[in-house]
Amino acid sequence: MTNLKLVSLEKHDRTIIQVGAARFGAGLVLIAGPCSVESEEQMIETAQAVKEAGADMLRGGAFKPRTSPYAFQGLGLAGLKILAKARDITGLPFATEVLDTRDVAWVAEFADMIQIGARNMQNFSLLKEVGKLQKPVLLKRGMYSTIEEWLNCAEYIMNEGNPNIVLCERGIRSFETYTRNTLDISAVPAVKELSHLPVITDPTHGTGKVSLIEPMSLASIAAGADGLIIEVHRNPNEALSDKEQALTPIQFAMFVRKVRALEKFRIENQFMGSASIGSETKSS
Ligand code: PEP
Ligand code: MN
Repeated sequence: MTNLKLVSLEKHDRTIIQVGAARFGAGLVLIAGPCSVESEEQMIETAQAVKEAGADMLRGGAFKPRTSPYAFQGLGLAGLKILAKARDITGLPFATEVLDTRDVAWVAEFADMIQIGARNMQNFSLLKEVGKLQKPVLLKRGMYSTIEEWLNCAEYIMNEGNPNIVLCERGIRSFETYTRNTLDISAVPAVKELSHLPVITDPTHGTGKVSLIEPMSLASIAAGADGLIIEVHRNPNEALSDKEQALTPIQFAMFVRKVRALEKFRIENQFMGSASIGSETKSS
């Protein structure tokens, strides 16, 4: 990948991105919370539950990229204030999506990490805007994008001066319809051999199915992922977005025990990072 300069593994040692106490690139970071912030009670109850279960960070959308203009679009500023309150109560930092260049600077005053969603991965104006800050960015892979295009988007952000980027594989469109997307687990070790940036997966949007979240999370950890972002709702049936794919707090607590056990095994056996077999012949 000849165009890559700043994000290339050839140019830098592996990067650790710190968000509050969470360290991407130094163990498994678990981000959890609802798809959308719906109310103060909903967000705070969920935040307390995921903290209790062992999450490292919160998630919650205040600006939602919805397929239909008639669907719930998010609470905006009110949602950010609720997220800030959830952070104060739990001590956990939060990631939240920004959709519009005009909102980047002021949202960054609330958020600990700015999410660029799949639908905006190649919104170059938005990439340049988050690149002007030092705020950590969670850059999701576009659903129609190659790994090379995705890494070039990280290059855009870094080229503006912001090196604090975490990549997130969230599934790509394929001919398969049983799952919402096809989670490309191979993107994890592929990114690890190309870039020094941490990479996490989103098995929630990657599958769209509660039953598939845990197995794909375990597969992501085995593949070397630096973290997972998981949707949790106190009552998924009542969620205003993505109700089919949210774990309940109880399910999330059981999930955390399993993923932490595999993480422990991974650390003890030192199979973090990129693969060893074949890496000497990797293509450029
Ligand atoms: C989300 O995380 O809420 C989201 C909309 O994700 P994506 O951009 O991956 O679809
Ligand atoms: Mn969602």
